[in-house]
Amino acid sequence: MEKIKLAIQKKGRLSEKSLELIDECDISFPNSAGRLMTAAYDFPIEILFLRDDDIPGYVEDGVADIGIVGENVLVESAKEVDLVTKLGFGRCRLSIAIPRGVAYQGIADLNGKAIATSYPRLLRKYLTENQVHAEIHEISGSVEIAPSIGLAEGICDIVSTGSTLLSNGLKEVEQIFSSEAVLIRNKNLSAAKQEILDKFMFRMTSVRKAKKNKYILLNAPNEKLEEIISLLPGLSSPTVQSLAREGWSSVHSVIQDQDFWEKIEQIKSAGAEGILIMPIEKLIY
Ligand code: ATP
Ligand code: ZN
Repeated sequence: MEKIKLAIQKKGRLSEKSLELIDECDISFPNSAGRLMTAAYDFPIEILFLRDDDIPGYVEDGVADIGIVGENVLVESAKEVDLVTKLGFGRCRLSIAIPRGVAYQGIADLNGKAIATSYPRLLRKYLTENQVHAEIHEISGSVEIAPSIGLAEGICDIVSTGSTLLSNGLKEVEQIFSSEAVLIRNKNLSAAKQEILDKFMFRMTSVRKAKKNKYILLNAPNEKLEEIISLLPGLSSPTVQSLAREGWSSVHSVIQDQDFWEKIEQIKSAGAEGILIMPIEKLIY
């Protein structure tokens, strides 16, 4: 039977969340410690563990059919693949930073400066768009120490909290790209593989929808039912059952994460009691 090959980061900031996503789709595979590839027991998928930088290229070549990688790495790689969906984790930004003691009025101050980065393509594009002529020093790691060792006057690197910049005496002056993990696909996937990808996506979407919603159960006096139900848009009409307690009903529905607390407060002040909120594992509609 045909299988699809999924490339994920072997070890790093995207590894845990990538594995979690696979697990949430109820796909399990043998303990893969130290291995390059493993096949799932219960889904036609093989998982390849790679360095993140290699993932776009392997997906372009078809060594892997799909992959999970940071958008920053994808765009920098300039590989020809399809972006299937953003995944909502691994959020970070690519920023230019300079030593804290150096005055900064605006982007024109970068003219004539040397900037160290592992993202020359993204940096070049940003500088060109802003008509800045700066020199780009491509280095592969420890970019943040470049100014202190005299290699460059600024850096362009990934920032998430800013603490690395701070501890290296740098300040963020320009944000050039914002990124999150994305699912990518080879451009020439066979129909059979596309079908497997669709199944994988269906599971992923059900889990994601479930995370955005909660199951809500509450008791309401019958004269307040209409008002309370109007506060519960849900997926469809809520289930209402009479309680043994005279004049009261139990209401079951699904409520979105968005404005969650506000909704609960309104429901409570409308007279609901015994409000119970439960997580949903999968949601299909
Ligand atoms: P590899 O050994 O696979 O090449 P790496 O050191 O290049 O790993 P990581 O530091 O693990 O990569 O980061 C992987 C991706 O995680 C980044 O490309 C980026 O998309 C994302 N990311 C999210 N937050 C951060 C952060 N604070 N610092 C760096 N990367 C982050
Ligand atoms: Zn890397």
